[in-house]
Amino acid sequence: MAESTMMDVPLQIRRLLDHGAGLHGGSRIVTATDEGPRSVTFAETGERAARLAGALQALGISPGDRVATFMWNNAEHVEAYLAVPSMGAVVHPLNIRLFPEQIAFIANHANDRVVIVDNTLLAGFAKLLPSLKSVRHVIVCGPADRSVLEGSGVGIHDYDQLLAAAPAEFAWPDVDERTAAAMCYTSGTTGHPKGVVYSHRSIYLHALALPAPDVFGLSSGDLVLTVVPQFHVLGWGLPYAAFLTGSSLAMPGQYLTPEPLARFIAEARPNKGAGVPTVWAGLQQHLDDHPEVDVSSLTELVVGGAAVPPALLQAYDERGITMVHAWGMTEMSPLGTVARPPAHASGEDRTRYRLTQGRFVAPVEARLVGPTGDIVGWDGESVGEVEVRGPWITGSYYREDDDEHFGEGWLRTGDVGSITPDGYLKLTDRVKDVIKSGGEWISSVELEGHLMGHPAVAEAAVVGVPDDRWGERPLAAVVLREGQKAEPGELHEFLSNKVAAWQLPERWAVVDEIPKTSVGKFDKKIIRTAYTHDDLNVTTLG
Ligand code: ADP
Repeated sequence: MAESTMMDVPLQIRRLLDHGAGLHGGSRIVTATDEGPRSVTFAETGERAARLAGALQALGISPGDRVATFMWNNAEHVEAYLAVPSMGAVVHPLNIRLFPEQIAFIANHANDRVVIVDNTLLAGFAKLLPSLKSVRHVIVCGPADRSVLEGSGVGIHDYDQLLAAAPAEFAWPDVDERTAAAMCYTSGTTGHPKGVVYSHRSIYLHALALPAPDVFGLSSGDLVLTVVPQFHVLGWGLPYAAFLTGSSLAMPGQYLTPEPLARFIAEARPNKGAGVPTVWAGLQQHLDDHPEVDVSSLTELVVGGAAVPPALLQAYDERGITMVHAWGMTEMSPLGTVARPPAHASGEDRTRYRLTQGRFVAPVEARLVGPTGDIVGWDGESVGEVEVRGPWITGSYYREDDDEHFGEGWLRTGDVGSITPDGYLKLTDRVKDVIKSGGEWISSVELEGHLMGHPAVAEAAVVGVPDDRWGERPLAAVVLREGQKAEPGELHEFLSNKVAAWQLPERWAVVDEIPKTSVGKFDKKIIRTAYTHDDLNVTTLG
């Protein structure tokens, strides 16, 4: 084999940090606070990251150690994202929305040594601390009554004081690009949380891919509202991509409900955003009710984590804001597909493409495996489980013998769908959510999308419930918009010209809200359980 003449320069987070803090030193991280937005430059962030690394080293953190965060999206959280891997340690954002037992399980499983905690989350964290076995130090960001942590036997520190006492420079080590840089656990929508460990190389490559025009299209002139939590798949990799491209970040902190989020948009004036559909749906309703809020800076919102309802995409189109649908998962860093229509598409065709999960982004490869284990063709019709591989796709779970999700060098995603000949993925369901009715599959996602297009419906979740005759039948749980009325019969009628008659739900429940998982997706487990326990007021149509 002939050798190349290229240099073998490792893809390290410290290089990405140097690049952003140096060449894009004037770019900013804007964080929402009670007193309005506060802002730091990438240059300042670079220095603060060096100080944080020095402080962590002084606390005994060495390469390979886990440093957890228990934080909202904010400037300090980005500092941790950069400092911890750059010093050779592993940053581990904990999902603050999980049940305490789950968080303790995860922190113990990961062997977290230090936790950096936001002051606003301290009360909850203090209750958790006694069950965190490996934690030796807690660093609190922002003014707080740290006495709630006393008696815990761990070191308690103030973030800003630690940074002020640390040197302004740090001699970053030369780490192997294949070593661990960060880790996240799946949010456990299915089963107990499983750890995914990202490498310097995988994060760097993913960060290089995000800014491409057909991907997220990021440039140094952008200000990106990062609503997707940093504890959710590394904030979709946006903080790292920002340091490569110089895109500024707008971090909403704890202000995630529609009213303060809308205010933050009006004040900080981001032009792009990224988040799950429920966040954008809440914002959309708020803007409908408060037309005076100025969100005119926004041009484009990436939406993923769950399927975007067609009506939501349309509602934002009408505001002149383009939603870009994307698909991925914790195991995929998360980027898999992005739904930018091909150049030749126009009119309705463009919308059809935009509503797919999107086209696979290189270097992610995919295949479809049908119900019998055969490889299914990319004809846009045939349905199978999506399997993926690539340099930012995990090949296993951390400290877990799992061969259910891995085989022949592919990751089984648990998502079911079809792929068009030009590589656009259309998901129809999750393997466990698809409704198996009389030997046919009914897509819960498709029914939900149609229902959320009804003017009286705010949210809809469809689940399969046991049925004597068909095995399973769909049950539709709907939340009505305030002040609106719609009878199940009317909603059934509304669906009848949109899906085949045998797919129409007979069972209906009007509920106050659809239960959500810790990352804002519909929690169908809870709806199924409520149905089984007769806790839902179900109307059955004849
Ligand atoms: P969890 O599996 O715990 O919910 P993830 O955030 O990793 O955690 O979720 C990944 C899953 O979310 C995917 O496997 C898929 O089922 C779903 N998902 C992500 N993006 C989309 C999308 N655009 N459309 C439909 N489903 C999506």
